[in-house]
Amino acid sequence: MTKPDNPGPATRIIHNRRHKDAFGSPYSPVYNTTTYRFENTAALLDVIEKRTEGNLYTRWGTNPSINELEQGLAGLENAEAALAFASGMAAISATVLTHGRKGIVCVGDLYGGTQELLKNHCMALGIDVQFLFREELAQLERRLDVPGKLVYFETPANPNLAILDIRAIAEIAHRRGALVAVDNTFASPINQNPVNLGADLVLHSATKYLGGHSDLTAGALMTTVELAKPVAAWRKNLGQLIAPETAALLSRSLRTLPIRIRQHNENAMAVAQAMEQHPKITKVHYPGLPSFEGHELAKQQMTGFGGMLSIEVQGGQQAAERVADSLKVFLLATSLGGVESLVSQPSATSHHSLSREERLKRGIGDGMLRLSVGLEDAQDLIADLNQALK
Ligand SMILES: *Cc1c(COP(=O)(O)O)cnc(C)c1O
Repeated sequence: MTKPDNPGPATRIIHNRRHKDAFGSPYSPVYNTTTYRFENTAALLDVIEKRTEGNLYTRWGTNPSINELEQGLAGLENAEAALAFASGMAAISATVLTHGRKGIVCVGDLYGGTQELLKNHCMALGIDVQFLFREELAQLERRLDVPGKLVYFETPANPNLAILDIRAIAEIAHRRGALVAVDNTFASPINQNPVNLGADLVLHSATKYLGGHSDLTAGALMTTVELAKPVAAWRKNLGQLIAPETAALLSRSLRTLPIRIRQHNENAMAVAQAMEQHPKITKVHYPGLPSFEGHELAKQQMTGFGGMLSIEVQGGQQAAERVADSLKVFLLATSLGGVESLVSQPSATSHHSLSREERLKRGIGDGMLRLSVGLEDAQDLIADLNQALK
């Protein structure tokens, strides 16, 4: 095969292979092994003392199936290096424990688990964690009062799809000697590459779009070789490595990521446009709609608008609950990014612990439903919403 000089993401991820198989398999076998044998002690010491590259023990991060996955993950985000983890929270916790110890400033809304980790656990460890509303971005520079802090955010954010300007935040952070971490789970690497916009650390819950079939739990960090190295040490000693079997399953999923995301984008746009016309829907939050507050910014920093959207149903919380309970194709479940469409009510799930005032302040209306638009036929999804709204 002759390879083009600068292959696109779909070509790269399909031909991401480190090992030639003796039987001519186009893909690498799964290395479920935990350990590796050496011919003699000298050969073992060569690896331990880093004179030659080699695998020693899987938990350390040395496993062919995991390393092949990581090569593919790095390529997807245009990063030098990637580390694969047992879950999104494993990736996030190792990253903040490594690079957030001088203080963390969060901007905008965060995934519930991340919020808990930072508020309960990082603060208990004495780490200075501050939270800014999206509208308080002007305060960011002042909060970065000592060098070496970590700025942390998500865009699009959960569940109102609010967009933050990655390039502008990275500029402020770098001026103050801070690092920038972006949770890119909602967008996926096909629709947005934060590294290209100045982010230093990109995080994914691979449980969502990267896995894409609601059948595996995994996480990823994409960054530079230099910033990855200390995170790998935390991963090793916290024991957060992904299992080789899961790594191989995730590698398989990644080969269809570009085409899946294209269809998620298309379906979500069709659903968003139909809901915008519906008389019982008061608001649609979707970055691809010109009526959406963050649309212009999304157009600048995203190449696609993603499969996530939120709608606000007339009649508040109870009306929204009735709609959620009447849907037949959309499954009532948390999580997102799978081939099947899901619906959840943020006030009953991810944001249940907030007071109504806090929810409203965060742009989460009483009648809000969050939709993860899957890969079914768009017309069936729209018909399902229409019948439920009756
Ligand atoms: C699900 C999710 C996480 C956590 O990932 P897990 O794989 O469940 O640990 C982090 N961030 C975002 C935006 C998520 O949606």
